[in-house]
Amino acid sequence: MSLDLTNLEISSDEIKDEMYSLMENLFPICRSITGNGVRETLKILQNSIPLSKFEVPTGTKVFDWTIPKEWNIRDAYVMDSSGKKIINFKDSNLHILNYSIPKDIEITFNELKKHLFSIPDQPNEIPYVTSYYNENWGFCLEHKKLLNMKDEMYRVVIDSTLENGSLTYGEFFIEGESKDEILISTYVCHPSMCNDNLSGIVVATALAKYLKKFKLKYSLRFLFIPETIGAITWICKNEKKMKNIKHGLVLTCIGDRGKFVYKKTRMGNAEIDNTVIKILEKSNTSFDIIDFYPWGSDERQFSSPGFNLPIGSLMRSIPNREITKEYHTSGDNLDFMSKESLQDSFEKYFLIIGELEKNFGKHDTMPNNPNKKSTNNHTHYYLNTNPKCEPQLGKYQLYEHFGGQYSKEKKFMKNAIFWVLNLSDGYHSLDEIAKRSNLDLELIENATKLLETKKLVTKVNDDD
Ligand code: ZN
Repeated sequence: MSLDLTNLEISSDEIKDEMYSLMENLFPICRSITGNGVRETLKILQNSIPLSKFEVPTGTKVFDWTIPKEWNIRDAYVMDSSGKKIINFKDSNLHILNYSIPKDIEITFNELKKHLFSIPDQPNEIPYVTSYYNENWGFCLEHKKLLNMKDEMYRVVIDSTLENGSLTYGEFFIEGESKDEILISTYVCHPSMCNDNLSGIVVATALAKYLKKFKLKYSLRFLFIPETIGAITWICKNEKKMKNIKHGLVLTCIGDRGKFVYKKTRMGNAEIDNTVIKILEKSNTSFDIIDFYPWGSDERQFSSPGFNLPIGSLMRSIPNREITKEYHTSGDNLDFMSKESLQDSFEKYFLIIGELEKNFGKHDTMPNNPNKKSTNNHTHYYLNTNPKCEPQLGKYQLYEHFGGQYSKEKKFMKNAIFWVLNLSDGYHSLDEIAKRSNLDLELIENATKLLETKKLVTKVNDDD
């Protein structure tokens, strides 16, 4: 049976209803990078696909990172002097700063304000804010509600736990004729938001459910992991399997009404790049193509210089609030979703996998080598000392250079640091990094100096 949409046992029109109702079931769950929200989510997915669940204990070292304590929450609210709960976790799980430590205190408005997060230019939305690696507590709320709060005493209750436990992730593998794999990775760590990241979860689940009925040449691996730390954990525990991954896509932000956006792989001309673009061109819809950048989602771990795997990302709205105002807010809800977009996205991924299957063995799928080192003696090359996944930058007191609510300048510095880390593979000179990142050479040099003082990059000897 060939991998063709017409060979599905039900119409993709019916699959869209399945995906949407799965999304409705998953929406209320308060997820985070660890805890029962992820377990509950994976348990629901197990009704559709027999995925395996893995638990990795707190304290486990994964490359430069350590599995954090496990966070769980039952209730949280801020009560005013009349006894009214004016911010209530039970109304929306976005109200709590994700990973808030337990609290039960009386507090002045001035003190409380330091722990409140809102978006002044989107006064009706609750922002999604996290504090994973820096113990803190807080509440997120609509800015218009914040403006109405009186200067009085408040009671803050956060019934949460932050204790030794584990990080949970899910994996589903469909064995093909060959060891060569296509990787579909999505993340399961966001609380009640649809596009980011329920859309990725439901499309990946539907793909896994319906593709497992076909006999395939490629093996398919589906990962349902907490973003960043989960990807780093999976890679660390499965390093030997990495060489089998020939193509991959990170599935995220795919259920809204926007046109398709394809973020290319780090090398930019891998078979997966050509395949995705071919399928989009054939479909006669408008789409955008953007070049790889070393932030965003888990493609940046798989594409770190130590692995350089060809992992792209086919999405719709770009996850950046300057472009998509719903991103990381309560506006990313079921109304922001379109069943037709989910169906269309499912079909595109299905066709992409079908096209890769059709071309199995025809192309050299190995990642192409980066450019040869330039012979120009004046160009400088550096090596990332943690080339496997990204280093845990929070450990290196780098955030003072780009932390918190960053100014434009600091944001550029942060971007420069990510570019230098990603391209310091001994093959890209600082000049080339500046060109590729579209940042000033001076900024790239400053970022490199900073990383050098933290021993995160080291200069390649000119004589090498
Ligand atoms: Zn996100």
